[in-house]
Amino acid sequence: MQPLLSIRNITKRFDRNLSPVVEFLSFEVYPGEIFALLGPSGCGKTTTLRLIAGFERADGGEIYVDGQCFEGSKTHLPPETRDIGIVFQEYALFPHLNVLQNVAFGLKKLPAKLRAERVMTVLEMVGMASFKDRKPHELSGGQQQRVALARSIAPSPKLILLDEPFSNLDAGMRHSTREEIRFLLKDAGMSAVFVTHDQEAALCFADRLAVMQNGRIEQIGIPERVYHRPQTPFVADFLGVTNLIIGEAEGDWAETPLGRFQIAPSARGAVLLSIRPEHLVMAQPETEGHSNGVGEIVMREFKGHDLTYRVKIGTENYVVQTDYCCPLQVGAQVTLQAVGPAVVVKKG
Ligand code: ATP
Repeated sequence: MQPLLSIRNITKRFDRNLSPVVEFLSFEVYPGEIFALLGPSGCGKTTTLRLIAGFERADGGEIYVDGQCFEGSKTHLPPETRDIGIVFQEYALFPHLNVLQNVAFGLKKLPAKLRAERVMTVLEMVGMASFKDRKPHELSGGQQQRVALARSIAPSPKLILLDEPFSNLDAGMRHSTREEIRFLLKDAGMSAVFVTHDQEAALCFADRLAVMQNGRIEQIGIPERVYHRPQTPFVADFLGVTNLIIGEAEGDWAETPLGRFQIAPSARGAVLLSIRPEHLVMAQPETEGHSNGVGEIVMREFKGHDLTYRVKIGTENYVVQTDYCCPLQVGAQVTLQAVGPAVVVKKG
């Protein structure tokens, strides 16, 4: 399948004396795909979106949409000709216009009758038709975000860019709006690039994601694959909670301070391993007085649907997650075993 969006070695630098904000960035987004750029604050996510939208000029590399060069050494298509919809964090609705007028704003080229029809179609799509006469301040944050989405999809753009669109919403609203917007984008068959620093949002909203650090992509893949098979310590640590453990590998196994663990992929020599808290299980030490790999529970946090423990072994602390009914208490002596292989995130 031909990609809809192709980013090739894009580089952007705001200050010649500083390192580039985005450097040799490459990724592709396919028709109908939701792609997330995930990374900590300042890693270059918004700059990448602004480059795609045409608000910034790239210093190197190319951007293609549907086979057409939008950005290159000799090309810079102005933003208004790029046929790209944008949804920002702060909704950016016109406060003096009602919902209907806000959505109609980008459709000025259409004859009045067609414009009115299109506005009602997209408002129905996002479940906001009955709010058409309200002003933005008469809507909740989630409703405003749905109107902002309706406005950006009304002109049927090739691609939608979403910049932290859920971060202004409270936890409950964030979940439901995220679910609804994903459904709407999928239903409309739209392609989207979604920028966030929230790993949970990226994991459940995106079909594929890229983890960024310092203007570069560290890993691209489907959320489950990247979560379960991080390729670098940064990705393992950023995408959820993890335990990073040193080991000495010998093929599919490694000796670690916790004992002998199965590893993936196979390796030889010194390695750094990532083991998620939910992939560690606690067991009672087999023999009393046997101290190798035996630790003590120093923290127990009940969270309703699960429990988080902190286990101290030697000088190191390990995080373990169990289901809701583990009876082990602070002070208990335990050993740790892994369920499934530990992931090699660094060799040497
Ligand atoms: P956040 O999650 O906080 O929004 P981000 O990953 O989207 O962060 P960017 O907004 O792309 O990061 O910014 C990346 C870096 O580029 C930051 O160090 C920022 O200060 C810098 N930067 C962004 N825009 C400009 C500009 N117009 N001029 C100079 N520096 C800029």
